[in-house]
Amino acid sequence: MNLSIMELGLYRKWEGIFSLLIITLVGKKTVRMLLRTLADEILSPRYIVLSAHYDHIGASGDKVYNGADDNASGVAALLELAKVLKGKTKHDIILLFSDGEEDNLRGAKAFVDEFPGIVRDTLLNVNLDMIAGVKNTSKLSYISHNLDQLLSEQKEEEFLRFQYSSWVPVQKGFKRERAAGMWNKRRWKLASDHGVFYRAGIPFIYFGVGTHQHYHQTSDNYDNINKELFWRASNSIYLHLRYLDQHIGVK
Ligand SMILES: [Zn+2]
Repeated sequence: MNLSIMELGLYRKWEGIFSLLIITLVGKKTVRMLLRTLADEILSPRYIVLSAHYDHIGASGDKVYNGADDNASGVAALLELAKVLKGKTKHDIILLFSDGEEDNLRGAKAFVDEFPGIVRDTLLNVNLDMIAGVKNTSKLSYISHNLDQLLSEQKEEEFLRFQYSSWVPVQKGFKRERAAGMWNKRRWKLASDHGVFYRAGIPFIYFGVGTHQHYHQTSDNYDNINKELFWRASNSIYLHLRYLDQHIGVK
């Protein structure tokens, strides 16, 4: 098996924990997915797919794009969530560490193509992409789609209220994105791996901080991320997940 250094690191650290390591070919490129389910025994036959992409835009000449916020932040949160959620969830949770997000969401597309059975039984996708932000980031944002299919009106209201009492201000929508360019409001539904679940008709919630001055720059590095916000956002996402896991169901 031909693994990158990062994959090898993940694999060794989590050996015996990842239940599946899948490598597929999509077109000319290899797209890898690292997956794992979390429940000790399956309590619900329905899944929540928790996703974060671990690819970035690579290197060009002597420029190295580390992608600390995009998306080491989401991957780190997912690894930590795996530890704290283990054995505590009502639903079977699939962790999807996807490759190829920066290449037109190839990894998530491969997942959906390879596992139609899992996709059919997936209630919800929770996608994390850029959750650390930069020095002046003060909020976590989210967008969701069709949560009302999974939560009663009362529970949905409760969920929305709950967002403002958690670790960090959470706002719906990405209102402060660049005015020009591709990041207009409508595109956010397709802006990361949740877009693939959206197209497959699966409700999703996506957490991120929006674009910023280090987005897709070599300066998206460890020194420039907002560690405090990352910690708060991760805690907040954990609480959101616990709520959703406990309360969602087919209405
Ligand atoms: Zn990203």
